[in-house]
Order: sequence, then C-alpha cells, then structure tokens
Amino acid sequence: MKTYLVGGAVRDELLGLPVKDRDWVVTGATPEEMLQRGFKQVGADFPVFLHPKSREEYALARTERKQGRGYHGFTVYSAPDVTLEADLKRRDLTINAMAKSTAGEIVDPFGGRDDLRGRKLRHVSEAFAEDPLRILRTARFAARLQPQGFSVADSTMALMRQMVDDGEVDHLVPERVWQEIQRALHENEPGTFFEVLRDCGALATIIPELEQGDTFSAAIGALRCAHRGNSGTDTRFAALMSPLKPAEAVNRAAQLKAPNGCQDLARLTTSLIPQIRAMKAGKAETLLGVLDEADVWRRSDRFAELLSALKCALPDPEQVKLGWLESAQHAATGVQAKTLMEQGFKGKELGEAIRNERLRRISALNQTQ
Ligand code: ATP
Ligand code: MG
Repeated sequence: MKTYLVGGAVRDELLGLPVKDRDWVVTGATPEEMLQRGFKQVGADFPVFLHPKSREEYALARTERKQGRGYHGFTVYSAPDVTLEADLKRRDLTINAMAKSTAGEIVDPFGGRDDLRGRKLRHVSEAFAEDPLRILRTARFAARLQPQGFSVADSTMALMRQMVDDGEVDHLVPERVWQEIQRALHENEPGTFFEVLRDCGALATIIPELEQGDTFSAAIGALRCAHRGNSGTDTRFAALMSPLKPAEAVNRAAQLKAPNGCQDLARLTTSLIPQIRAMKAGKAETLLGVLDEADVWRRSDRFAELLSALKCALPDPEQVKLGWLESAQHAATGVQAKTLMEQGFKGKELGEAIRNERLRRISALNQTQ
C-alpha cells in the first residue's frame, strides 16, 4: 500500500502558494484494509476515507468512465491494481494531475510541471469532455491564477468550445453551476471566469443576458469594483447583474438557484438603478421612496450591501446620489414609532406620522446641504 499527496496541494506547493487542504491517493489497498487501519469511509459509492487523526481525505486510486450526459453517469472502478497514473489520468488539468510520494518524489505523467512553468491550464486527456463541470473549473482556475500569468491552453479552449457545441453545458444542474459561480466570485480575478466562459461559448447558456451589447464590460467592471471593495457574495453577484434589466436579473438569479440573499440584492439593485438615476437634488419624497423600497428601516445591513453594489454599478456623475441616500437614511432612522405613539398616534395615523416625520427630517437635511 502506497500513499501520495495529489491535486491542489501538489500544484500549490510547486507554485509557492499556501496549501489549504490536502488530498491523498492510496494505491494497492482495499476498503477493508483502510477500515482496519481506523479510516472512516465517507459516502457509500466512493472509496474515499477520512484519516482517523488528521481528518484529511484519502481516496483509493480509481478510474471513472462516462455512461450518460452531464455530471451524472460516471462508473467508478476502484481496486488494488488501479495505478497512480490511471487515477491521475481522470483528472481535469495537468497542473491538478500531479502526485507527491511520501519520499518527496513528484509523479507527473502528463506534463503538469511544464504547464506550471509555461503558465498553461491544459486538459489531461480527451476524457476532459466527459464532464462539463470541468469547463467551469477551468474558468475558475483561470480566474484564480490569472495574476500569476496563467491562461487556458489553445487546445483546451478548442475542446471546451466543442463541448459547448455538443450541448454538454445544457446538462449541468443549477446547483453545481451556482457553486462554481459563487467560488469564482471570490477568486483573484473574478472577471476572468466570465471571460473564459464567454470565449468558449458557455456564457450563452449560463448567463446569456451578459452577452448583450455593452453589458459584458459593464458587468465585469462592476464585479471588479466589488472585488476590490472586498465585498461579500451577495454584493459581488448584484454588481455583476447590475447592467441587466430587473426582470432579466430576477429570472436569471432564480434559474441559477442563487441563494435568496443573492437573488434579493440583485433584484433590489437592478430595480433601484433607474430610480436613483432619475433622482433630483432636494426631492425628499423620491429619497424616501428609495429608502422605503429598500426597506432600510428593517434591513440596514442589506442597505449597506446595496450601497456597495450601487457604488460599483453607477457611473461617476451619479455617485453623489448615494451620499444623499446615506444622509437621508441617517436623518430618518432616528424617527421613533414609540415617541409618536406617546403623542397619541395609532393605527393608520401612526404610519402617516412616521412618514411625515421622516420626510421632514430629510427635507431639513436638503436645506442645509
Ligand atoms: P482547490 O484549491 O480549489 O481545493 P483543487 O485542485 O484541490 O483546488 P478540488 O476541487 O479540491 O480542487 O479537487 C481536488 C482534485 O480532484 C483536483 O486537483 C483534480 O485533480 C481533481 N478533480 C476535482 N474535480 C474534478 C473534476 N470535475 N474532473 C476531474 N478532476 C477533478
Ligand atoms: Mg482541494
């Protein structure tokens, strides 16, 4: 029985990047032997085990063969005679298909080190085409390693285009697509993820609305800005979707099965942009209208995210209006229902009194500006 460090840990170590989690491959062992050694099996179908102490993943060497379309339909074959090379061959990119023995020797049958040096993301074999998720993974590694000078190899880009033409991307389930998008939004150059998807044609299936006219560059610009601001996922996604029409953004976010917070902020951002653009100085009513629609009174955290997304979405001349909104928020949040109730307001009248007091405070603010 032999144990090898594989995948991302070997890649990152050779690149001089911090290693996050370590995955291991075991050859020449059976599941029974692993269990005897105290490993815990995770999942019934896959021969993957957790180390009793380190909790790191140890997978028995395996091969995979494709039987159906999309992510499903892999037949896994694992036995003590499956070699390390055979296991590495089923992997996506050459830089992810290297192993390191316990003696420190690098096993690199597919030229991973050459591609690390040449800064290329290259598929290991034609079997890459069996899993469309690999297109998204490749785009995500491009987004991560772009600052180090990596790009997708021409032959891999050609293969990804072929996969798109063959309709492979249509078979991805939204959950997997969203998972990759969510991760990509936090990579070093998130815009590169969408550029690679556009270049291979996959964007036309995943977020086709981004491809219209000037939308793409506006979306990527807004996303870059949200990334520079170290924003959370909701804000990054809202920034990306910000050039879309509200209905487009809402439908796409729902189809992608984005989490509710993401869907919600994308909806709010796209629906408020036209209103903010139309806003005129000194108009307390419109300011209050926007604050009400954003429900800033109950959702101040989300409002802060909304402002961050808008900051990245609006052109320079409109930015001043975000300052008006913030001042209006600060002026009007001080209005206490309790105080007005003590003054005798209740029911519908209380609602009106709150509104009038908020308006009064926002108007007063405008007069002093
Ligand atoms: P990260 O730093 O994001 O964890 P990673 O390379 O470790 O990067 P994982 O998603 O943790 O990526 O997967 C571990 C390894 O498994 C990869 O390096 C790759 O060799 C292989 N792998 C994962 N998913 C696929 C896939 N869909 N197709 C082929 N190989 C894959
Ligand atoms: Mg990993």
